[in-house]
Amino acid sequence: MAFVVTENCQRCRFTDCVAVCPVDCFHADDEMLYIDPDECIDCGACVPECPVEAIFDEAQLPDHLQSWTAVNKERAAKLPVINDTEEPLPTAAARKKELGFG
Ligand code: SF4
Ligand code: SF4
Repeated sequence: MAFVVTENCQRCRFTDCVAVCPVDCFHADDEMLYIDPDECIDCGACVPECPVEAIFDEAQLPDHLQSWTAVNKERAAKLPVINDTEEPLPTAAARKKELGFG
């Protein structure tokens, strides 16, 4: 089991999650972050940090987000680790509003 980043992270990338993760399991491309399931220690610290509720315990993923488990595994293996917070993407504020998180 691991935690999984899902579609709400797209065009947002606030990276608040990275600041609290005790291991180096977040990886990033230009659009969003992904969790390496082999590195994640299932601590859950990242979940309440995400302002758009993008992160789920794999065991509690809603049906329509199930495909993100495989996406995280595949993308994390190919992308560099991100272990510092970064500026959110320019689209982040609009994306957050669009998703209904004020
Ligand atoms: S805090 Fe949420 S939106 Fe921001 S990078 Fe992490 S998962 Fe993505
Ligand atoms: S559950 Fe813990 S170890 Fe896994 S990604 Fe979140 S903060 Fe990192």
